[in-house]
Amino acid sequence: MRERIRPVSYAVVATLAVVAIWFTPTLEKKQVFAMQPVVVSRPGLEPADFVLSPLVVEASNKELVDTLAIGGVIQSSLYNALNESGVGVLPPSARHQLAWSLADIFEYKVDMSRDLMQGDKFHVLVERLQKPNGAIIVNKVLGARLALSNGHSPLEAIHFDTPGSSTGQYYDASGMSLRAAFLRAPLVFRRISSVFGARKHPIFGEWRNHTGTDYAAAEGTPVRAIGDGVVIFAGRNGGYGNMIDIRHRNGMVSRYGHMRNFAMGMKPGTRVAMGSTIGYVGMTGWATGPHLHFEIRVNGVARDPKLALQSRSGEPIPADERSLFQKMRNQTLASLNEAHFASVAE
Ligand SMILES: [Zn+2]
Repeated sequence: MRERIRPVSYAVVATLAVVAIWFTPTLEKKQVFAMQPVVVSRPGLEPADFVLSPLVVEASNKELVDTLAIGGVIQSSLYNALNESGVGVLPPSARHQLAWSLADIFEYKVDMSRDLMQGDKFHVLVERLQKPNGAIIVNKVLGARLALSNGHSPLEAIHFDTPGSSTGQYYDASGMSLRAAFLRAPLVFRRISSVFGARKHPIFGEWRNHTGTDYAAAEGTPVRAIGDGVVIFAGRNGGYGNMIDIRHRNGMVSRYGHMRNFAMGMKPGTRVAMGSTIGYVGMTGWATGPHLHFEIRVNGVARDPKLALQSRSGEPIPADERSLFQKMRNQTLASLNEAHFASVAE
């Protein structure tokens, strides 16, 4: 008897739940319904077998989008600054996402893992999207300003959709694309775990020839070509371990060392595109821990990447889009100026 009633009762409860959900009306605004526990009892059965815990139905037929202006001063890291400024307006996951988005927007201009200093300021104008299930994410960064203490003028980024481009691009205030011929860092910002002091070699103490930049990252992290070019060396090279040299159009060479292994097909003569994976972080050669050694060489001499890769302007906005862009820019910059500093006074 018991065995027969139990499935029947489950079916009744399930049907009630389905019916309740089915008749939940279409909503204009997000609402939360806490349903009462459903209890089905039959003589001779423990009621506990048939109590469903309260069922919460969150229902909305709309995504809600609004725009936030967030500003902050960097004390320790971009992420920490955003984390403080975004408290109360964005969940932690969205603050993380925003830090990465900012690094991506400025990846042709700033090596976020190395170029930022205490006191640098940022403003960001961002769309906050609430999904029907209540989750809050960062939708689109509409504009950003980064004022580096050691920079000349603040870097600005204005999002603008040009016809024929599905995702839109970022332009500076004068209408030049932020996309340039070179990325500022050979690793994606979110994959860099820390930065070496870079003055002393971890094995040999003072390494006089150490003119490069070291990025600590997990073994196997993809290494990307900073620009279009041709591989001119791929192999073992003493202290560099597994090393790749890429020659770029202007004669500049980018060098990547200590790699665990190379991507498929890396040999002299191979053409590589900006951003494509050429190998993986390792600790071959003179390295005590996994990291990427990165160098920029001009005429065989190592140069400071910060200077060598600096401000190579991208394409200008198309002429027939300029007036529209200027309106967007003025609006975006005005909103950025109103950015709210959550925890630090400007
Ligand atoms: Zn190094």
